[in-house]
Amino acid sequence: MYDGNYLIARLRAASLGRDQHVFAHRPNENPVSFGALFSKAEDMAAALVGMGVQPGDRVAVQVEKTIEAIELYLGTVMAGGVFLPLNTAYTTAEVAYFVEDATPRVVVCDPVRLDDIRSIAQDAVIATLDAAGEGSLVDAAAQQSGFEPVVRGQDDLAAILYTSGTTGRSKGAMLSHDNLASNSEVLKDYWDFGVQDVLIHALPIFHTHGLFVATNVALLAGAQVVFLAKFDADAILDAMPRATSLMGVPTFYTRLLEDSRLDRARAQNMRLFISGSAPLLVDTHVAWHARTGHRILERYGMTETNMSCSNPYDGARRAGTVGFPLPGVEARIRLKGEEVAAGEIGVLEVRGRNVFQGYWQMPEKTAEELLPDGWFITGDLASVDSDGYVTIVGRDKDLIITGGFNVYPKEVESLIDEVAGVKESAVIGIAHHDFGEAVVAVVVAEGDADPRAAILVVLAENLAKFKQPKHIALVAELPRNTMGKVQKKALRESYADVFGAGGH
Ligand code: AMP
Repeated sequence: MYDGNYLIARLRAASLGRDQHVFAHRPNENPVSFGALFSKAEDMAAALVGMGVQPGDRVAVQVEKTIEAIELYLGTVMAGGVFLPLNTAYTTAEVAYFVEDATPRVVVCDPVRLDDIRSIAQDAVIATLDAAGEGSLVDAAAQQSGFEPVVRGQDDLAAILYTSGTTGRSKGAMLSHDNLASNSEVLKDYWDFGVQDVLIHALPIFHTHGLFVATNVALLAGAQVVFLAKFDADAILDAMPRATSLMGVPTFYTRLLEDSRLDRARAQNMRLFISGSAPLLVDTHVAWHARTGHRILERYGMTETNMSCSNPYDGARRAGTVGFPLPGVEARIRLKGEEVAAGEIGVLEVRGRNVFQGYWQMPEKTAEELLPDGWFITGDLASVDSDGYVTIVGRDKDLIITGGFNVYPKEVESLIDEVAGVKESAVIGIAHHDFGEAVVAVVVAEGDADPRAAILVVLAENLAKFKQPKHIALVAELPRNTMGKVQKKALRESYADVFGAGGH
């Protein structure tokens, strides 16, 4: 009965006939079966249609992570709608921009935000869903009894995810049914997910990682999830002996390593630890292997492309790299329109069924980044070694140009991170009267250490003078967003005047 809806048919296939099987385990709450998940999603779809949702309409959602929010995602797609999840950290002013830009038919928010959202979304129907999975949306769904998913094809939109937008306005990445289904199918096979798997799901579901990689892969595989509202070291360590896999951002792994309960015995039943959304330090990979016997599998992707590269499941997982382009994904590295030689750094471009349909109502932006022949310019700097492993060096806008020379922050960061007494570092370019930009290193030390002098010695031995920092700042921690990405823009703002106002 789900055949006509491209994405839903695929997400449902592995659990058909297995309705009584558990999809989600939740701490202190009843497990949720596949049958219950999909039948509640149908009721949500019916409720949304009752609120006026027509095929192609956006349903904007800013709610805490609950199973009901997953049902809402599935229900929106069943209704033929376009799911538009929003980071729970966004303020009302930020949500106002998304509502104005995407003109959703329905906005679902936490009841505590109801008045604020009403004031900025007068043209939408507003429903509520709280952290306990209750609210007017669930009440409306409870009045329904099933729904035949609306017919939708491969190229129809299933979701719009706004990029975090480190420069300028946030852009809505339009993702089709096929973008999502094809990528999750590839990942399920590449990472060997099946009905025997139990995935620890502790990522937020307003982002591609937790919503599409974790949720869609688990559903496609007919696997179980341990569904946690957020990262919680106790709950993850508690679940590990019964689980088989974890998907996390690098900070999951560094935080778990700080806990002495993490050891080989606890990780014995696990078969796969996956990291992505931000670079995993080589040190973390090595320390994780020493402690648990497992090599973390690092993969790379972005909102616009879903997942593009992954270290192999069978085969060498190389720390500091993101592995190979996934099956069906083409990758090339270019500078000023020319492909670079092997090992050289340039901008990574990808093409395949994974690549999005363009930015919502931004044809010029789309044309700049998504070429007519299907190649998408990721804006990430990368290189490919002679074995085909891809290494991400950072965003091209984080590239530092000092005195006319290029400095790739990762090269400097990797050396600094090796210095005794250094926990981690971020290297940025700051306006400088003489060089245009100069290199600044922001360093987090271990304990009370002051590794600044040692850093200068190591860098002087290994790097050309222009790559060496003109200033090193010690900080307690680096600013990160919810996905664990270091906020280099925020750092650049904090140190903007370190060489004097405007570099003078
Ligand atoms: P988002 O669209 O929020 O998923 O952010 C995508 C960006 O995260 C990419 O363009 C990369 O800059 C970064 N990213 C994702 N995975 C990795 C990784 N494994 N290593 C380095 N950077 C990554």
